[in-house]
Amino acid sequence: MSESIKSLELLAEQFGKLGGVGKRTAMRLAFSVVDMTEAEAERFAEAILEAKRNIHCCPVCQNLTDLEVCPICSDLSRDRTTVCVVADTKSLIAIEKVREYNGVYHVLHGMLSPMQNITPDDIKLRELIERVASEDIKEVIIATNPTTEGEATAMYISRLLKPAGIKVTRIANGIPVGGELEFADAHTLACAFDGRKEY
Ligand SMILES: [Zn+2]
Repeated sequence: MSESIKSLELLAEQFGKLGGVGKRTAMRLAFSVVDMTEAEAERFAEAILEAKRNIHCCPVCQNLTDLEVCPICSDLSRDRTTVCVVADTKSLIAIEKVREYNGVYHVLHGMLSPMQNITPDDIKLRELIERVASEDIKEVIIATNPTTEGEATAMYISRLLKPAGIKVTRIANGIPVGGELEFADAHTLACAFDGRKEY
């Protein structure tokens, strides 16, 4: 039946573009929208547009925010001499949940991957280098995932920053190899930070 309802197909196609949403889920979500009142559907569509219009990268750390500068960078109680480098905002949120880290962050928005043709120019690396050059940063903790891309990215950053006299550390391997930081439990993440090793 659904094959003949063009608008439903188009809507499901849009849901299917979201991460982790398969064809069946996409169709189920499309049906949920059809079941909404018109006012609900308008709020839903508006929320998507609002998020898209308001959310941008923090000019300091590249974290996603809808404020001019993100709340972490605006928080004067945080230690600005320690910068934790993460691949994405999801990793940052995972680390923040543990409530043990009191430094600031730098979000790369990706990891280096020769296989997928992702080069240093495709992620926020230039911003990190500029930051290290202009701010008083003593330690850079690299907290990318323990995957091939995460390790390659960590290695690249350490080679870039070490000659500048910055202490570069890598979080310890508590997180399962190939695993993702955002799914690690609080204890594992806290241990990974405590056990970080210098390059
Ligand atoms: Zn920020």
